Parts: sequence; structure tokens; C-alpha cells
Amino acid sequence: MTTQNKHTRFYIGGRWVDPAGTGTIEVINAATEEVMGCVPAGTPEDVDRAVVAARAAFDGWAATPLQTRVDLCGAIARKLQERQQEIAVLISQELGTPIKVSMMVQAGLPAITFGSMEHLVEQLPWEQRIGNSLVVREPVGVVGAITPWNYPLHQIAAKVAPAMLAGCTVVVKPSEVAPLNAFLLARIMEEVGVPAGVFNLVTGYGPVAGEALAAHPDVDMVSFTGSTGAGRRVSEVAAATVKRVSLELGGKSANVILDDADLQQAVVDGLKKCYLNSGQTCSALTRMLVPRDKLGVVEAIAAAAVPHFKPGDPLDPGTVLGPLVSDAQRARVRGYISRGLEEGARLVCGGARPPEGLERGYYVAPTIFSDVTPAMTIAREEIFGPVLAIMPYDSEDDAVRIANDTMYGLAGGVWSADPERALRVARRLRTGQVELNGAAFNPLAPFGGYKQSGHGRELGPYGVLEFTQVKAVQL
Ligand code: NAD
Repeated sequence: MTTQNKHTRFYIGGRWVDPAGTGTIEVINAATEEVMGCVPAGTPEDVDRAVVAARAAFDGWAATPLQTRVDLCGAIARKLQERQQEIAVLISQELGTPIKVSMMVQAGLPAITFGSMEHLVEQLPWEQRIGNSLVVREPVGVVGAITPWNYPLHQIAAKVAPAMLAGCTVVVKPSEVAPLNAFLLARIMEEVGVPAGVFNLVTGYGPVAGEALAAHPDVDMVSFTGSTGAGRRVSEVAAATVKRVSLELGGKSANVILDDADLQQAVVDGLKKCYLNSGQTCSALTRMLVPRDKLGVVEAIAAAAVPHFKPGDPLDPGTVLGPLVSDAQRARVRGYISRGLEEGARLVCGGARPPEGLERGYYVAPTIFSDVTPAMTIAREEIFGPVLAIMPYDSEDDAVRIANDTMYGLAGGVWSADPERALRVARRLRTGQVELNGAAFNPLAPFGGYKQSGHGRELGPYGVLEFTQVKAVQL
């Protein structure tokens, strides 16, 4: 463990302060299984100190000119860019993301998000006239941000940047599985001169530090990203104080390949979207819906593409599939693969055994099941690993029915040679995002779920509005 990754203090009220308790949390390198760092395990007392600091800073920050807040977001973006390589390596070690993806997504997106604030500011309806009323947008107040490990710094940035722009102060409780990158952000906040108390960082376990933050009476809003189960609990805990809750939860997204699509392109792109970050992506397209008479061709294309996803060292620039984040996650994914076999899905490639030569590190072989039916567990539950379920359908209506037959509603894909047909099907999917023919991710488009994938929207102008209250002043 390097001293750089050994954290013993929290960032609260603009200072590095000792925790109230003595517990620590070890951070494990996903590829080597070695301890690479540690952070304090925060207690409700630590959370309370952070909330007090955020509350004390709120009035001043909310009154700070918008341009000052924009400028600080810009300064944070530049620092994140300068340190992009360092951030990418750290996150690749923390959770195993291949370094190329880390550079672009794990380290690249947070800089884009903070950098986007200056462009958004012009587009937002800060003030509006409705009849004899002036409707003004005001910051919601003190925000508790609870984030997951799979895109750890991106998830933090997606909350902190818009909250800060809107004039809120924030207490971040990052995932205990990949918390080191959050300390890097705290240092940047300090370096660029974000006023004391605007950004506060407390690490710890969900049921202890996370619940304390969600329950705190002086927190006006809790913005949560993570699993549906934990999100439900956050809602319950937050309900006692009727605070605003925004939830970004799990997914089981369908990629609907219509009968006129270019199969080669659709299947290979679909595989990439399923295996991104070893399948540990909330919006991963994990169910590939294909016309029944094309099942054989689709399987052959997918099987031929799999060798490209050879698991390997995340720090090797040639690697496209790294390990999973943890031993627990690997065990969970292997369990789902066994379940798929037990329930009669047909294994096209991969499986629960460790990939050859990779006994060390939390690796799982890229896995494909075919002939998966909507009732099977692997078609219903979020696996969060490199496991694709190919599902046959009989008609366009049948495809839409299967795609929507899930408790989730985060993302989806549609492939067709006819863009209007693709859009028509996209409109029928009950999800917060849909990509047509492999279209690119848009970091300014609203991101969030229908149904049990949550009810918040992050990124771009919609992401900022989440952190505002609306006041009507009658004139
Ligand atoms: P998780 O739910 O285990 O943890 C997420 C965060 O919640 C962590 O900080 C954790 O400490 C905290 N937490 C856990 N229990 C809590 C409780 N009772 N009270 C308060 N906080 C609690 O999720 P994870 O394993 O870190 O992340 C993976 C999950 O996140 C997947 O389900 C994935 O789909 C989801 N996710 C969703 C999005 C999205 O935008 N919709 C994005 C990324 C990840």
C-alpha cells in the first residue's frame, strides 16, 4: 500500500479532520487481490459533522454569484484533465476497468461534467414569468450524495458539479469498495479554493454512514446511485424527514435487434455494450433480443467476436476486459452463470470457471447464453458481470413486450435498417434512455430510469434542475 492511498482523515469544512471512530476499510486491487489502500469507516458522528459544515456554508454559497460557481467548476475540470492519467490508473486498480476505458470514461467523464457547467448555465430557466408570477429557481439546500463503485468518480461528479452550480453544498459518501478516487477530488476542491464546507467527504459503509446521511434532518436532499435494494432503503430512511430523494438504480436493459438490421454490426456492438467495464455498467445492454429465425446466425457472430474480449491485466493498454471489482462480485456472477445452466439456458461460450491462466484477480470469462426465456433468473436479475443473454422473439410486438417485461427501465437499444422504424420501437420502450443503431452516449442528455431503475435524472440541464427548488413570487 502506498502512503498516497492510505487515508486517515475526512475532508470536512475545508479541513482534513480525524474521524470520530477508529474503524478502517481496506481497498483491494481487483487484478492482484492485494490491499492497495485504506480509508476511515465513518460513523453517524462524522456524518453529522460534515452536515453541520455543509449547512454552515450553504447561505454564503447560495448567495455567491453564479459566475463564481461556474468558474470554480471550470477550474475543477481543468485539474481533473491535468490528472487524467493518474485518476485512470487509480480507478483501473481499484476496480479493474481496462486503462483505455478508464482514461476515456472513468477519468474523462468527470472532467467533461464539471467542464459542461459553463455551457449549461445559459440554457437553464433560472427565472420565468407565468401571469403575475415570477418563478425563480433556488438551490435545494444541503445535498447528501451516496455513490456506487462501478463508475465511481463519474457518479460523484454527476451529483457534485450540478449541485454546486445550483448553489447547493454537498456531503459525499462514496462507495466503500472504490473510495480512493474521491480523495483525489477532495484535494482538487482544496487546491482550486472551493469555499470551506461546500464539498465534504466522509467514507464508510452504507448501512452506517450512508443511512446516517439519508436520515439526517439537516440534509435537504439525498441523491443516491446504487442498487435497487439499497435505494429502497434510502427512500425509507429519508421519508421520516420528507426530504427530496433522487434515485439512480439498477437495470436489465434490452437491445432489440429488428429483422432488417445489419446483424454483424448489431451483434458485435451489442456485445461491447454488454461487456463494458466487465458488465458492471448499470445501463449495460444485457438482454439481446433477436428474431427467432436468426438465432443461429446471431450466436455464430457473437461466438466469433468473443476472443476479442480476452480477459487480462487492466493496466495493459491492449486489454478490453478486466477483472470484476471484488471476490463477492465474482462469486455473485458465477452464481448467476450456474443458475442459467440449471434453468436450461444454452451456454454458447464462457462459464463459471476462471479464465485460463488468470487464477489471481477477480476474473470471469466472457459468457454468452442463448435461448434465454423471459422467466429465467438470468433474464430478470441484474448480474453485473460479462454475461449476455440472447433471447428469441416472434414479432416486433413480441420484442417490445419482452423488452418491457422487467421491473427495470434504465436503458435500451434498437437496431433497424429503417431509422423511423427504430424510433417507433424506441418510443414503445419504457426506459429512460434508448440508443438507436449503436448511437454514442451523450454526456449532456438526461440519464435515469423508469420503474425500479429509479426516478432521478442526471447530467446536462436536467441534472442541474434536480438540485433546484421552485419559488413563485406573485407580483
Ligand atoms: P450498492 O447499492 O451496494 O451501494 C451504493 C452506495 O450505497 C454505496 O455508497 C453504499 O455504501 C451505499 N449503501 C448501501 N447500503 C446502504 C444503505 N442501507 N443506506 C445508505 N447507503 C447505502 O451498489 P454498488 O454495488 O456500489 O453499485 C452497483 C449498483 O449500482 C448496481 O445495481 C448498478 O446498476 C447501480 N448503478 C446505477 C446507476 C444509475 O445511474 N442508474 C449507475 C451506476 C450504478
